[in-house]
Amino acid sequence: MSAMYGFDSTLNTMTKKSDIPGFRPYRASVARKQILSPHFMRIVFSSSEFHRLGTDGFDQRIKILFPFDDVHPSGPWGDPHLFDEDSIARGMWYQQWKSLDTTERNTIRTYTIRHANPAAGEMTVDFVLHDSSGPAGTFAATCSVGDDVIIIGPDAHSLHSDIGIDFHPGAARHLLLMGDETAIPAISAILERLSADRWEGDGTVITEVPDRRDFLTLTAPRNVRVFQLARGSASVPRGQAVANRLCSLCTPDRLDTSVADGSDGSTFDGESGEHSDVADLSADADVLWEVPSHVPDSGLYAWVAGEAGMVRFLRRLLITRLGLDRRRIAFMGYWREGRKEI
Ligand SMILES: Cc1cc2nc3c(=O)[nH]c(=O)nc-3n(C[C@H](O)[C@H](O)[C@H](O)COP(=O)(O)OP(=O)(O)OC[C@H]3O[C@@H](n4cnc5c(N)ncnc54)[C@H](O)[C@@H]3O)c2cc1C
Repeated sequence: MSAMYGFDSTLNTMTKKSDIPGFRPYRASVARKQILSPHFMRIVFSSSEFHRLGTDGFDQRIKILFPFDDVHPSGPWGDPHLFDEDSIARGMWYQQWKSLDTTERNTIRTYTIRHANPAAGEMTVDFVLHDSSGPAGTFAATCSVGDDVIIIGPDAHSLHSDIGIDFHPGAARHLLLMGDETAIPAISAILERLSADRWEGDGTVITEVPDRRDFLTLTAPRNVRVFQLARGSASVPRGQAVANRLCSLCTPDRLDTSVADGSDGSTFDGESGEHSDVADLSADADVLWEVPSHVPDSGLYAWVAGEAGMVRFLRRLLITRLGLDRRRIAFMGYWREGRKEI
């Protein structure tokens, strides 16, 4: 087993890292709740095990397991071996979950670490409160301080703790981030991390949320401008507001991602829309998940996440209509209208 040291930005220390699984389960409970807006609930989870929580940041995803209700014969948790040392050492949580009878599988949902604070033993997650009832949204709305969850999250002791990060701008100097409300936690964390790193490129962020009251304060680097848009009427398709704003920033062959007048921006012309060497990580053909492993140069890098139909719509706009090279764009269908996650 190889080992090396990695810098832990939260603790300001070096952590010894080994070739162990990037994710591990943590027993956590609700420490605090805060209503951020009509459609956002912030939950701070605490755990005595979070001292080894990974802090790579950006759009670091996690999985949350929600407990069974009080009358379930197995008690709150279906997998009796999730926390066995051997299971953790081999990174077996998902295979174990899949092998259980469906009645013994706790509901799993995917979320983003909004903020990791291992020193305080805390992790913050911002949940969208949506109208269609689902176990995660319902938990966020109704949970109480002390309620338990299990979080499958990054392990700071692993060389692979950044495995759940899909934001890979490489040397790109121009950013375009677009998403719906479920992508706001990731976009917020990406922008905060770039600000902390004193990233000096420029960029444009366009987000779409249900209501103007859902506009949150985002901390962005100096040369990144942020457009928060309200979806408004339910009859307006998801992504339409984002697409309109994007088009208003484009001339036929050019997207201006910069704040400063006269800056370079990024050109689209001459780039072919379709390239085959982008990893399509989607196990389900209905859910779009295309994440390039590296950007070819210092030009534009785009990151698009949210409802799958919206992401597809924006994909068509960027690649087919604007002719952008797909190797520059991460497309992530975070959820799908009318369908539960698992
Ligand atoms: C990598 C990744 C990171 C994510 N990060 C976050 C995050 O930080 N915060 C966050 O809130 N979400 C995040 N999501 C999205 C979240 O996983 C889904 O919204 C999830 O489906 C919610 O689970 P649920 O149990 O509430 O609903 P489900 O049981 O999955 O679905 C029930 C019904 O609700 C609908 N539905 C699900 N989500 C929404 C929604 N947001 N708005 C309207 N209807 C919806 C479904 O279409 C379905 O009809 C992320 C997803 C991914 C893949």
